Amino acid sequence: MKKLIIASNNKGKIKEIKEILVGLPLEVVSLNDENINIDVVEDGITFAENAKKKAMEIYDYLLNRGDKDFLVMADDSGIEVDHLNGAPGVYSARYAGEHGDDDKNNEKLLANLKGVRWENRGARFVCQLAVVDDKKMYKSVTGYVEGHIMEEINGSDGFGYDPLFYCDELKTSFGEAKSSEKNLVSHRGRALVKFKILIREFL
Ligand code: IMP
Repeated sequence: MKKLIIASNNKGKIKEIKEILVGLPLEVVSLNDENINIDVVEDGITFAENAKKKAMEIYDYLLNRGDKDFLVMADDSGIEVDHLNGAPGVYSARYAGEHGDDDKNNEKLLANLKGVRWENRGARFVCQLAVVDDKKMYKSVTGYVEGHIMEEINGSDGFGYDPLFYCDELKTSFGEAKSSEKNLVSHRGRALVKFKILIREFL
């Protein structure tokens, strides 16, 4: 079976991606599963640039290693808050300084929205998914989900900004939603639905 290597070690993301891609004739593996220890510097100014950079750096590595018959999938995602002119955007993972410190990121977001009314707390999660195969064919898709930033932490499921994100469609926070509910409407879920169609061109 062809291998789909997810260019990430973010456990939350990998779990969601695996759940949604169940049933495809692909062996879905992470960078850790493949013993790949590369930390791609995400210095692009758009989600699209970062997703492409991640996919291509892992592609180059695999090609040099002599691998064949693989696909690399990269995800770049984050949250855009209207009142903050789209911030934290591509800086979502390191908004408070240290990469991946979800608690500090959430605290900083709450502090920056202190006193802001609900109607001005609009936000969206964005997910850009890129895929490249061993012949360097490259494609990408985007998914969005709209919501609001709550005034306090709600729920303990999910990861990242989930406990602060009130999903307008689910009418609850992602931190309180079951992963199956979140996957149906989330930015990543929606990008993955498009991705499942796109991937047929690579199989
Ligand atoms: P990156 O795509 O690895 O650069 O990081 C994306 C960052 O955006 C994560 O570390 C989270 O802070 C945030 N993020 C992306 N998707 C989600 C999600 O589904 N829920 C909560 N936070 C997310």
